[in-house]
Amino acid sequence: MIPVDHPRYHSLVTRERLARCAEQGIVAWEGLTAHGRGEAFDYLLGERTTESAMLAARIASAMLLTARHPVISVNGNTAALAAREIASLQKATGALVEVNLFHRTEVRILKIENLLRDAGADVFSGPAERLLPLSHDRAWCRREGMYAADVVLVPLEDGDRCEALVGMGKKVIAIDLNPLSRTARTATLTIVDELTRAVPHIAESCTTIGTEERVTLLKETDNRYFLSEAICEMTGRLSLALD
Ligand code: ATP
Ligand code: MG
Repeated sequence: MIPVDHPRYHSLVTRERLARCAEQGIVAWEGLTAHGRGEAFDYLLGERTTESAMLAARIASAMLLTARHPVISVNGNTAALAAREIASLQKATGALVEVNLFHRTEVRILKIENLLRDAGADVFSGPAERLLPLSHDRAWCRREGMYAADVVLVPLEDGDRCEALVGMGKKVIAIDLNPLSRTARTATLTIVDELTRAVPHIAESCTTIGTEERVTLLKETDNRYFLSEAICEMTGRLSLALD
């Protein structure tokens, strides 16, 4: 039992949830280490949404709302941490929700799809095909889903699939706490923020953004700017720690 007054309460509860989901076969064991890398970068960021990440989330809402065929790609960690938030974002954007896994088994896919459905998401499922130019199992997706998408939101992505999706001419929005990752550097737009903070920000932006603002924001998509702002935030906090 984690005491509510523990200074790291939120982080410990999140770890406990991920461990439980790993035991249930929803999160891959390897997903726990991926979470650890994310936590380390979040520590550097101050565990808060920065101004630049807030702007990136607003641009992401503009991209999703103007897309012809937007898709939200969900893996085990994303479902374990943010199933309800993903369901709300789907309602705000009308995007398809599709499960895509590196450690892929049919059983895990069903478990994740059920978790998402229980949280209120309408999951696009059914037979997948090996459609993406990748040698690992992230290549499996649905022809009418991710394969046909023009904009894909990829929380906690692999750099090589991000690159493959961009190479296919899609606009890719990544959520990644590591501004140095291949994903962050390859995506069309990276929101350097924690998943459970970023997803609600995108959904909230969808309700307030006007048509004119969408057009203006879409012209401002400059991924390098968002990465360099995140790196400045982190290095700034590191140097302050020495004072
Ligand atoms: P890449 O394949 O892009 O080079 P990587 O191999 O370093 O990245 P992975 O293990 O593939 O990283 O994916 C985990 C990524 O997700 C990490 O970059 C980590 O910072 C990020 N991450 C983990 N948990 C969260 C979270 N809750 N919110 C946002 N980002 C997260
Ligand atoms: Mg990777």
